[in-house]
Amino acid sequence: MAKYKLEYIWLDGYTPVPNLRGKTQIKEFKSFPKLEELPMWGFDGSSTRQAEGRTSDCMLKPVAVYPDTTRKNGVIVMCEVMMPDGKTPHPSNGRATILDDPGAWFGFEQEYFLYKDGVPLGFPKGGGYPYPQGLYYTGVGYDAVGCIAREIVEKHLDLCLDAGINHEGINAEVAKGQWEFQIFGKGSKSAADQMWVARYLLMRLCESYGVDVNFHCKPLGKDVDWNGSGMHSNFSTTYLREVGGKEYFEALMAAFDKYKNEHIAVYGPDNHLRLTGLHETQSIDKFNYGVANRGASIRVPHSFVNNGYKGYLEDRRPNSQGDPYQIASRILQTIATVPTKKASKK
Ligand code: ADP
Ligand code: MN
Ligand code: MN
Ligand code: MN
Repeated sequence: MAKYKLEYIWLDGYTPVPNLRGKTQIKEFKSFPKLEELPMWGFDGSSTRQAEGRTSDCMLKPVAVYPDTTRKNGVIVMCEVMMPDGKTPHPSNGRATILDDPGAWFGFEQEYFLYKDGVPLGFPKGGGYPYPQGLYYTGVGYDAVGCIAREIVEKHLDLCLDAGINHEGINAEVAKGQWEFQIFGKGSKSAADQMWVARYLLMRLCESYGVDVNFHCKPLGKDVDWNGSGMHSNFSTTYLREVGGKEYFEALMAAFDKYKNEHIAVYGPDNHLRLTGLHETQSIDKFNYGVANRGASIRVPHSFVNNGYKGYLEDRRPNSQGDPYQIASRILQTIATVPTKKASKK
């Protein structure tokens, strides 16, 4: 038997976006624990905006497990928050609202800024700006990316890979101090679980550097020529990948148009600062789609059209601070409103 450090992490009750919380319990197991072996646990919901003081217990239900190589026998346990009965999802539990669909696949492209002393890494300390945007995106050299940013990004990548998170890539982004990683997952909840754990690992790693992760979608404001941060959400279902077709695609886009306000409501706060129609975005009150169009709400990859309107689509509106649970939930709800035909012929 060995003592494992189980870090239970969950989302609190803050709005419009929840924060990550975590606490450790030690338990003995013969080998690395499986999900079924992990007990439910409780926490004081009155300190996380999830309960009133008098009946403050909320329950933590383990839903996914990841190795944590920063600690000896470390385990990260992603949890859903449940009511005291342990069965009813807490109102803040966005994950519980995601339709179960093993055929749904998501790929999230998380952009973020690294901040130190209130400014992006590499911005002059006394105020002002570094060189205008141009050479930072996918850049190399101290001038472009500074010195500790890449170290953080590389360490984060390794922590995520060690944890079994399905990273697909990383890159330096358009603004100085801005970076991106991409995560892909099969099943309606998997990529979102992994995204929250990857965010957790990044924030925790940055503590020792005195660096903050700034997930705000337009941290430098909308009136300057510095990019904002998004979390482009790529999605597909079995039907979209295997049947698709122009008619279905157009019906799907009509549904996305119809529910555009419901989508924007969960695509992250302050998105009006980012979705302006500039900097490769569509404005917040419009919905459009376009083949390979990075100024569209939904970008349709060339491959999708070339394959007879089959494949995946990219919703470019979700921002960097958005909750991937709520985003995945909304996308699948809208898809579910569009009738599909029985797949008779390929
Ligand atoms: P870009 O920056 O050009 O938008 P990226 O390569 O950064 O493109 O991101 C594309 C994303 O699409 C990847 O994160 C990938 O996981 C995702 N993706 C690819 N195929 C599918 C699919 N069939 N269903 C859902 N997502 C997909
Ligand atoms: Mn990308
Ligand atoms: Mn990007
Ligand atoms: Mn993209």
